[in-house]
Amino acid sequence: MIENAYVVTVTGEEHPAGHIVIDGNTITAVGPGPAPDTEGAVERIDARGCMATPGLVNTHHHLYQWASQGLAKDNTLFEWLVALYKPWSKMDAEVVRGAASAGLGWLLKSGTTTSTDHHYVFPSGRGDLFAAEIEAAAELGVRFHPCRGSMDRGQSDGGLPPDEVVEDLATILAETEAAIDRYHDDSFGSMLRIAVAPCSPFSVSRELLVQSAELARAKGVRLHTHLCETLDEEEHCVAQFGMSPVDYMETVGWLGDDVWYAHAVHLQDADIKKMAATGTGAAHCPSSNARLGAGIARVADMLAAGVPVGLGVDGAASAEMVPLAGEVRQAMYMQRARYGPTALTARQALAIGTIGGARVLGRDAEIGSLEPGKLADIALWRVDGFYAAIDDPVTAFAYGQTPPLDRLIVNGRTVVRDDVLVSVPQDEVARRGADAHRRLMKLAEEVL
Ligand SMILES: [Zn+2]
Repeated sequence: MIENAYVVTVTGEEHPAGHIVIDGNTITAVGPGPAPDTEGAVERIDARGCMATPGLVNTHHHLYQWASQGLAKDNTLFEWLVALYKPWSKMDAEVVRGAASAGLGWLLKSGTTTSTDHHYVFPSGRGDLFAAEIEAAAELGVRFHPCRGSMDRGQSDGGLPPDEVVEDLATILAETEAAIDRYHDDSFGSMLRIAVAPCSPFSVSRELLVQSAELARAKGVRLHTHLCETLDEEEHCVAQFGMSPVDYMETVGWLGDDVWYAHAVHLQDADIKKMAATGTGAAHCPSSNARLGAGIARVADMLAAGVPVGLGVDGAASAEMVPLAGEVRQAMYMQRARYGPTALTARQALAIGTIGGARVLGRDAEIGSLEPGKLADIALWRVDGFYAAIDDPVTAFAYGQTPPLDRLIVNGRTVVRDDVLVSVPQDEVARRGADAHRRLMKLAEEVL
């Protein structure tokens, strides 16, 4: 039972001294004033000085990149990829386990209760990389949507990645299907769902896109890929396929309310219309787009058109160790820098990071807002202390440095307390991330 918090439901209601009641993993009551029927409460949290929001939803990430941060720092996306494919080709399950631990721990510390991951590099003979990240997520206690990624178009087929990091079509489809059968849980309240996620139009074959869509729809899982991230990609698509990226995706069955694209920066009006009409979602990753100089996504235009938009941190190697809560601010400021001060409000940016992300992942009936019947994924932010000079807690949260996290609850369980990860000792998680980096750099010496 949480009382005395400034409760932001993100459905339009805010309760300046409100309550939230949790039973098991479910929210049973939300409203103004003290909680009703306080008898039998196991734990009472006095959240005076805190703002309660839904936990944030991260719609795009590459956890393994925690192990390859700080490299190729001033390059374009394509140059950066070419530089990093080599060390990535040497990663093993131990690297992925450590990187995923640190990456997910960092996300929890910035208020994330649900995260995707997009893992698309599977060098052969290096252990079960997909299982390694799933184990890390279960240990840390985050709601997890790993996307089984893939690349089948190496340099010898006109793609960007070197041949040693791509797999063949039959292997990819078999492994992806096996991952869905083994892990995907579509029940209400699921902590683990799988998506099918060929990497990008410039690293996969047309056949892989077509057959991935067929597999995902046969299994009832979602589809994810990178799209319209850079102008380089658009030129590649026009040169290779004779059409823009969104038109190309339409020809392979990749528009629909079970599809979401990472980035979606370079969109024409017609692309936005197609995405809105079909319910195709976008994972907006503003820091990554800025770091790689990719551009500024048309978030305000997408929202106005009705496109589902969520936030993402993108891989730790393109955005470095960006915390998801900071992307609320980054999204708001980049829209304003491009379109003016009313382009995106703090409350809209917070909504993208919560209910928007939930919609992108097809889980808006379960998570993304504070309402009775939804899962207990809740962040309590400390908006007292220095932040108390701002009357509106949402402003205090979104405009400056993100306030400390008093508590983060995932599925009814506290995983962060007093700004420190508690599901697994925080120092241990940080050490695993640093060890994964050193291990990958050592393995990479074999090829660099
Ligand atoms: Zn990405």
